[in-house]
Amino acid sequence: MTDLPAPPGHAWQQAPHSQPPRSGANLMPTPARVRFAPSPTGYLHIGSARTALFNWLYARHTGGQFILRIEDTDRTRLHPGSLADMFASLRWLGLQWDEGPEADGAYGPYFQSERLELYRHWADWLVEQGHAYRCYCTPAELEQMRQEQMARKEDPGYDRRCRHLTPAERASREAAGLPYVIRLAVPQTGQVTFHDMIRGDITFANDKIQDAVLLKSDGWPTYHLANVVDDRFMQITHIMRGDEWLSSVPLHWHLYAAFDWEPPVWAHLPVILNPNGQGKMSKREIIRPDGTVIPVYIHSYREQGYLPEAMLNFLCGIGWALDGSTEIYDLETALTAFDLSSIQASPGAFPAEKLIWMNGVYIRQLAPDDLHARLVPFLSRQLSVPEEALRADHGLRLLIPFVQERIKTLTEAAEFVDYLYVDVVPMADPAELVPAKTTGAQVRTGLERTATVLEALPVWSEAAIEEALRGLADELGLKPGQLFSAIRVAVTGKKVAPPLFVTVEAIGRERAVARLRQAIPLVP
Ligand code: GLU
Repeated sequence: MTDLPAPPGHAWQQAPHSQPPRSGANLMPTPARVRFAPSPTGYLHIGSARTALFNWLYARHTGGQFILRIEDTDRTRLHPGSLADMFASLRWLGLQWDEGPEADGAYGPYFQSERLELYRHWADWLVEQGHAYRCYCTPAELEQMRQEQMARKEDPGYDRRCRHLTPAERASREAAGLPYVIRLAVPQTGQVTFHDMIRGDITFANDKIQDAVLLKSDGWPTYHLANVVDDRFMQITHIMRGDEWLSSVPLHWHLYAAFDWEPPVWAHLPVILNPNGQGKMSKREIIRPDGTVIPVYIHSYREQGYLPEAMLNFLCGIGWALDGSTEIYDLETALTAFDLSSIQASPGAFPAEKLIWMNGVYIRQLAPDDLHARLVPFLSRQLSVPEEALRADHGLRLLIPFVQERIKTLTEAAEFVDYLYVDVVPMADPAELVPAKTTGAQVRTGLERTATVLEALPVWSEAAIEEALRGLADELGLKPGQLFSAIRVAVTGKKVAPPLFVTVEAIGRERAVARLRQAIPLVP
């Protein structure tokens, strides 16, 4: 980046401020420019997805822009698979960004690692203006300082010794070419009060704020500098992020003041607690006392057969409510109604059961053809059947409406249709072929006669199969349920499957007849 962009609406070099920036409380510029600014240190967590969603909703609500910015300045924590996972997970959810990596945007680059010159420039500017200073303390000195503070039972922190160097001391360190960091010179007295759209007014005493490092000795910025500079240069109007960043605001407030930049509106989203209500939601999957596992990454939910629509509806409800009673609503409804003032301040436990329930509701709302299409990759993986074959399978299509009533996740479908894709149905317990109050001999006859009747059936349809089999049960003096149960186990290997006649139709005449005959010698 050779041509440094000027801050929008401001002169490139500005006079030092005299007034602290106004609170963002009464500034509600529309349309909003909001950003999701993950650090690529891991996979997209469900909590981060909620943050991304709320930003996206607000951008859409105001007709503004949703920006994706990658905060990759902490080079030691980069995770190789993180970016691809985040992009794929956001896209799966439908949270496409208007500006950012793999998108357009006039405010790029959108990777902080490609904006180092800009941060360096503004860090130096702060030093020139007297709002920041070079600190030459070595890691060993800082460690010794910390030990001494602990021995004196003081809070550890930088004691600002380099802030108070005399010009001569400073000159000698410069002459010796000592490496340095740049720290913000935070006022040591007074307090800062800022407004958060969700939390209200918040006051911090300045003497509790560290002279934080803005630029490290290797020339890389810290989160604080890069974040504030980028929010400014990308013309971000509203910062919506997790509550854990609230404690950074006082420092950022001082940075905005030092730059004489108007801060954006802050809105810190309530943290999501673990399902048991204790502690901030884990960064890794949660194993409950009963052994059930609650995933925390969006890709895990995707792999386990959750629908993006259900996930979005669910995420909306963590910290926001449409009207206090409606649980199921689509994204269009949510973005029309979404507003910062209706976000709750109090944290809530992760409602894992609600997500499963919601997913079932969304699955039942799908058109059968749509469900079929969504099931194809899952069934293909679980049952080792080529996707093409599944797409073209008429038998599967017949069973979809019945599967739809029975599953809460897409991965649950396989057990209702797996018998369509085997040569021989596994008969784990042949005793199941013999329903209560029937004998082996009756069942053998019943299966043989069924095979014969089906073989000769003029029309292969659910209705014709039903009519023939009901007549047969009558003829054999069996209760329909008894005959049908034996047939079901013979053709599917299971006692529980979608309704029998459509199942038999789906299996197909030739295979159904063969299975019935194969089962006869197994009847105990
Ligand atoms: N990079 C920070 C994160 O990983 C962003 C915090 C913010 O939105 O300011 O969450």
